[in-house]
Amino acid sequence: MKQLQIIEEKPKLKDLIKITRESGIPLLGLIHIGIIDRGSSLLQVRASTACNMRCTFCSTAANSYEMHPYNYEIELDYLMDWIKEVIKLKNNEVNQINIDSVGEPTAYQKITELIKECKKIPGIEIITMQSNGTLLTKEKIKAMEEAGLNRINLSVHSLISEQAKELFGNENYNLEKIKEICNIINDSKIELNLTPVYLTGVNDHQIEKLIEFAKEINCKISIQKYEVYKYSRKDKRVKEQNWFKFYRKLEELEKKHNYKLKLGPIDFKIKKSKRVPLILSRGDVAIVEIIMPGWMKNEMISKSNNRAITIVDCNNKIGDKVRVKILETRDSIYIAKKV
Ligand code: SF4
Repeated sequence: MKQLQIIEEKPKLKDLIKITRESGIPLLGLIHIGIIDRGSSLLQVRASTACNMRCTFCSTAANSYEMHPYNYEIELDYLMDWIKEVIKLKNNEVNQINIDSVGEPTAYQKITELIKECKKIPGIEIITMQSNGTLLTKEKIKAMEEAGLNRINLSVHSLISEQAKELFGNENYNLEKIKEICNIINDSKIELNLTPVYLTGVNDHQIEKLIEFAKEINCKISIQKYEVYKYSRKDKRVKEQNWFKFYRKLEELEKKHNYKLKLGPIDFKIKKSKRVPLILSRGDVAIVEIIMPGWMKNEMISKSNNRAITIVDCNNKIGDKVRVKILETRDSIYIAKKV
């Protein structure tokens, strides 16, 4: 395989696909890696897919090897080229970058350099990052602060050590360390936003404890709704709630704890903005070239007009040309099937 560098890892780890500039793989079009434009002034940047946890309710089913046979990682310089290109395609209507991932963003080796480079881009005012906090240290937080990171959205779901370990699916999860990390972030220029997932019937009581914790250390808290997707990891104990009930619950908790819980785009200075123009529409048929294995089993990734397109139910080889029909183009994420 010429275009890609696939590193064979030890049996427990997944194969790692390193996406380099030489590969020419477009970094726009995929859900799991690259850049996502959802028509707002915030760009989502996904530099790698690896995660060190295995949460019982993970929406991306991170570390389910049978579902995701590969991990992906993008070379920093190449990622920066694409971030700048996407900003141009959006008429420079981007004021912030959120470094997130289908895994854990801080598992990306060059995370601090990524923050630093993003902050240098003219017009970028805010850099935010999702994290489970487990790979952060005092030194790393200091380096990220100096690099210009403005906010960390930190996922923490329980303040009971045993329950936290169980929900994160990792015996080594250290709640005391996470609390310490929260205090270190709070004492820095980086804003802390706690992002617990509300798992009805499992951590209800802990959500209230987390609100009190946020109040005590004076940080933001954005409670996340538990969502079940076709391919997410499901926690069967959780009673799913609809959006109406979820918001009603937030209102109730807001009153009870006298703390702001309903945070929206205005609170995070996110505006609507021009979308990257589509290169193909739903229903279009095109000849595309296979460029790398897909994130899900039985998927391959192809390219056309400098966009990456996922082909479902496909086992063709890299370099093959195939005829596909476009099924989805939402948020410039292209899904196709062979015809
Ligand atoms: S930390 Fe996030 S990405 Fe990793 S398993 Fe948990 S929910 Fe999934």
